[in-house]
Amino acid sequence: MTFARWSVATATWLIALAAVADTVPFDLQAYRLLAASDRAAGIAQGRAALDAGVFGDDTAGERQLLWYMGGAAVGMPDDVALGEVVLRLQSLGAARSDAVALAYADFLRGARMIDLGDSGEGLATTLRGANRIEESDDPQLRATAASELCRAFSAVDKSDQALAHCRRYTSIVRPLGDSAVIARAEYLEAVVLSRLDRPAEAIPLWQSARERFLARGLGVLADRAAGALASDLISVGRGDDALALARVAERAGRDGGNPISTYFAQGVAARALLALGRGEEGASEVATAIEGTRALNQPTVLAELLSVQVQLAEAAGDAALAQRAQAEIESLSTEPISDAQGATIAMLEQRYVAREQALRIRELEQQNEHKAVALEQSRAEAQRRAEALRDQRLILVLAVLGCVALVVALASMLLLWRSQRRVAAGLRAHAYRDALTGLDNRRALFEAIDAVLATPDAATAGHCLILVDVDRFKAINDRGGHPFGDQVLVGIAGALRAVAGTRAQVCRLGGEEFALLCPRLGIDAACALAEAARDAVRALRFDLDGGVETVSVSLGVAPLDRCASPDATTWMQCADRALYEAKSGGRDRVVVAAEPALP
Ligand code: GH3
Ligand code: MG
Ligand code: MG
Repeated sequence: MTFARWSVATATWLIALAAVADTVPFDLQAYRLLAASDRAAGIAQGRAALDAGVFGDDTAGERQLLWYMGGAAVGMPDDVALGEVVLRLQSLGAARSDAVALAYADFLRGARMIDLGDSGEGLATTLRGANRIEESDDPQLRATAASELCRAFSAVDKSDQALAHCRRYTSIVRPLGDSAVIARAEYLEAVVLSRLDRPAEAIPLWQSARERFLARGLGVLADRAAGALASDLISVGRGDDALALARVAERAGRDGGNPISTYFAQGVAARALLALGRGEEGASEVATAIEGTRALNQPTVLAELLSVQVQLAEAAGDAALAQRAQAEIESLSTEPISDAQGATIAMLEQRYVAREQALRIRELEQQNEHKAVALEQSRAEAQRRAEALRDQRLILVLAVLGCVALVVALASMLLLWRSQRRVAAGLRAHAYRDALTGLDNRRALFEAIDAVLATPDAATAGHCLILVDVDRFKAINDRGGHPFGDQVLVGIAGALRAVAGTRAQVCRLGGEEFALLCPRLGIDAACALAEAARDAVRALRFDLDGGVETVSVSLGVAPLDRCASPDATTWMQCADRALYEAKSGGRDRVVVAAEPALP
């Protein structure tokens, strides 16, 4: 027998804590914590609440309070309070046809019977309770039933069966996600593993449960887990850790007003002391705990403490004490389960397990259906995403194509615009240039003249116009042919441009006639320019048929201020007249237009 039996009794409330809180003015959440940590206070407050009728017609609330209060009564143990709770639950169940209330009553009675040593009846009663709620598929209720069976089987030394119920309990509560309830399930499973002498598996569960309780602020429950953990730590040779934890649990039991917890922890401490070679201290510690426990009607815990005393006495060589303790243990030993009880238990458990299996299968089917639906939904979602992605890609491709098209269009427009500019520039050059000599043509000259005339001071700025005509050019053509004549014209054009430099704009008016437009040059410079031009032409030499041809030009200079009116036609006529005079005067000369006659 191990201390796990005590732990099972403790676990009764832990299960109660897992129940769902109801929304009634009475704070069931706070109450369940009180009943689990300070049992006496829990019983007193529960009784007061029931007497005051705080629940009225709220059957569920009243039932829940009774369940928590019953847990405290079993743990104390307080048989008066327990009897009261069981009666109330039974009358509630009868009056309101409440199967859950009846099941709770059975669980509490069964737990107490087992604690008092009536294993067979206790187990059967617990199983009856579990079977009462077979119609319910409420996971909370099923969890409660599973945990009660775990506790009951464990307490009657049927730990293998207990472990199966515990593990089902854990598997029901884990997905519900309430860390305090999960901690209780771990606690219960650890109790059973500990009973099965599998401390290495139990220890991590105790630790996990303890941490979860601490994280939820349930310090008292964490300390109880510490006490149980201590017991298993002794088994794996960690006596120091075990002693420290046992002290924590002992203090917590004392602070919480739970003498059974305190004595249990003292028993663990005594074992730890024995393991540490401090058997004497342990002996006095366990003797105190045994004395205290005798005063409470809790034979199973007393038997546990006596077994520690036996160990300590044997270690100390006190055979008399060991014998005495052993005899007392035997006097407390539980009644064996009778054949008839065994048959009833087997029948009830079979019924319960069959119902649980059916529920489990239904659950699995539902889970499968949910998974299938979820799978279908995720497939549809994946398809929708894929379509959206395709659409996005298409939009992206179209956008890129659009951008490329825009760039291409812009580039084409730019190229077109540039080529048009080039063509326009070419056309413009063509329109204003003489094809043979490359000089500006007549149109260019007249536009330049218009520009010069448009200046505000045109009349007095010293603008001059020089007309140039090749002398007897017809004869040159006649002698050398038209292509030779062209060659002569090109030569003359070159000579005129060289002489004019920046002083004048040289143009070919057509045929063998040229003009030099000299803005702001003044009459004297214009005359000098004309003379220089005449000299330059005369200096030209053209080869023709082995001989050399020379050529001369006649020039008429027309300062604008000597014209009758400052317009292009008059100015040209003025220059033409001077040229005519140069021709008639013998050619190869410069004539400046005369001053206009005074009116
Ligand atoms: P004048 O001294 O009186 O000016 O005598 P001229 O022979 O130069 O004058 P005229 O007007 O009688 O002759 C001009 C000639 O210029 C007639 C024409 O054959 C020739 N001519 C006109 N344009 C061109 C041209 O582009 N190339 C060539 N080779 N000859 C041209
Ligand atoms: Mg001429
Ligand atoms: Mg001529």
